[in-house]
Amino acid sequence: MHELGITRSIVAIVCEQARGAKVLRVTLEIGKLSAVMPDAVRFCFDVCAKGTPAEGAELEIIEVPGRAICRGCGGEMALAEPYGRCPCGSSSLELIAGEELKIKEMEVAECA
Ligand SMILES: [Zn+2]
Repeated sequence: MHELGITRSIVAIVCEQARGAKVLRVTLEIGKLSAVMPDAVRFCFDVCAKGTPAEGAELEIIEVPGRAICRGCGGEMALAEPYGRCPCGSSSLELIAGEELKIKEMEVAECA
């Protein structure tokens, strides 16, 4: 389950950004083509955040659908899997969305 390592990195980045403040909420963007399971990240987050400033933080996950541009006809389309074919017959597609895995937002408690 590679989500554990990924989630551990996310928690590390979040805690670094928080500079010791308590993390209240983290919003992640996970592309549907990224091969990362949101449910697994959710599960790992609680485990990885334990004992860190991110413990108990609310985790919000935004799933980003896959999109590609056809190099053949220039058309844009939705993609459910990394490899697809344009209605024009070309399979030369450039992915423009769906592979992301990033921390979109985070909310930390005000310093006391
Ligand atoms: Zn095309």
